[in-house]
Amino acid sequence: MHPLYLYNTLTRKKEEFSPIVPGKVGMYTCGPTVYQYATIGNMRSYVFADILRRVLEYNGYSVKMVMNITDVGHLVSDADEGEDKMLVAVGREKKTPWEIARFYTEAFMKDAALLNILRPTALCYATEHIEEMLQMVVELVEKGYAYETSDGIYFDISKFPAYGQLSGIRLQDQLAGARVEENPEKQHHADFALWKKAPKEHIMQWPSPWGMGYPGWHIECSAMSRKYLGDQFDIHTGGVDHIPIHHENEIAQSESCTGKIPARFWMHGEFLLVDGGKMSKSLGNTYTVHDLVTKGFEPLAFRYFCFSAHYRSHLNFTWPALESAQKGLRSLRTMVQRSSRGPEKPGAEEKMGRFRELFLESVNDDLNMPKAVSVLWEAAKADLGPGLARLAGEFDRVLALDLVKGPADEDKVLELSELPPEVQALIEERRLAREAKDWAKSDRLREQLREMGYQVKDLKDGYEVTRIP
Ligand code: AMP
Ligand code: ZN
Repeated sequence: MHPLYLYNTLTRKKEEFSPIVPGKVGMYTCGPTVYQYATIGNMRSYVFADILRRVLEYNGYSVKMVMNITDVGHLVSDADEGEDKMLVAVGREKKTPWEIARFYTEAFMKDAALLNILRPTALCYATEHIEEMLQMVVELVEKGYAYETSDGIYFDISKFPAYGQLSGIRLQDQLAGARVEENPEKQHHADFALWKKAPKEHIMQWPSPWGMGYPGWHIECSAMSRKYLGDQFDIHTGGVDHIPIHHENEIAQSESCTGKIPARFWMHGEFLLVDGGKMSKSLGNTYTVHDLVTKGFEPLAFRYFCFSAHYRSHLNFTWPALESAQKGLRSLRTMVQRSSRGPEKPGAEEKMGRFRELFLESVNDDLNMPKAVSVLWEAAKADLGPGLARLAGEFDRVLALDLVKGPADEDKVLELSELPPEVQALIEERRLAREAKDWAKSDRLREQLREMGYQVKDLKDGYEVTRIP
């Protein structure tokens, strides 16, 4: 009817999806590095992976989703340079790396749950798979794909001619423009660490054939995806930043061991921007889910906001945009929930069938969520009676916006403390204007509040605020 099409970074085109084993999908998602709170940018990536999983399930597949938790190994930049992030966190928080990893893993899982991101079928920790990683490193050394230096074991990319197939970055070009090498023992600057030898003071270290050490970042995903999903599985996901290094390296390691590319489909989520630029600590705009909640937003308003752009496009976060997502979500729920209280409408079933088709067509077109949400809006305006609530319940298997049970606009009188701070400020300004008998200003402010979705009703001795449905 509507086959599922997914964009494959590897082939650079949308392809019709069919799994290796009929009816079943194996999917691996690169998980977080747990030494600080996840940002809303990180969370956009996981909302994308969750949508993919839910759309596969909506299509009737049984999905095994595996996600790693990087609690060791991704200590420096993707290219093995720079400072050890976990050690920075250890210095900052005066805790052991294990305590830090546990704390931020729990925080991440809580944020994911608040965004209705389903728990992976298997959640695997790098520190619990050192054995599997070492086996793979040994295999690569034995097969001649890796070499030893004074500080570790490195993958030799010259032994893997397909290197660069995902990003389209040609090794030859890199060789021509090779930059000054920070590690002179590496044969090519793109050779990467499979295993690092640990200096005595390094906190996390394990025994290996090369003495005490710790794994490189990339090997964890190769070892764990192989363990839980086999030598080849259906889909591998991550953020676009993974394409040029992390996923190239994963492919090189896995394929050199097994002879097969580990996944058939490689899918990547584009970045979230904030105020049109990169999120950065120095700009103070690395927001977390907690920051949104503190400002009075529902976490699900962010999920809904994520659907305003296709996953392969940039999405620009601003507070007004989140505000309008929150309003949109509440109005949608209000329409859905009111519909369930009304009488059945003749002809609704037929119209619902058409909306079902359009919804499936949208999500199956490489997860076109902006289109899928617009189909729901059309349905909400199509006078379906209680059919709308039934339809929204079905679509919510993918959207997961709590459409049927979640908080909606009501005629409930709101306390000042329940309102976002900017609304509180306008209400106070209006109260002062009325005290000063500045009726024009008071009316102007009432209109401004109305545009923001709030109705202010003046009483003999005060006022009442309600949300406009
Ligand atoms: P990390 O914990 O740094 O390994 O990142 C976790 C995930 O978040 C990875 O899949 C990254 O690609 C993704 N990511 C990081 N920053 C952003 C961003 N601004 N927008 C979307 N995804 C991001
Ligand atoms: Zn990975």
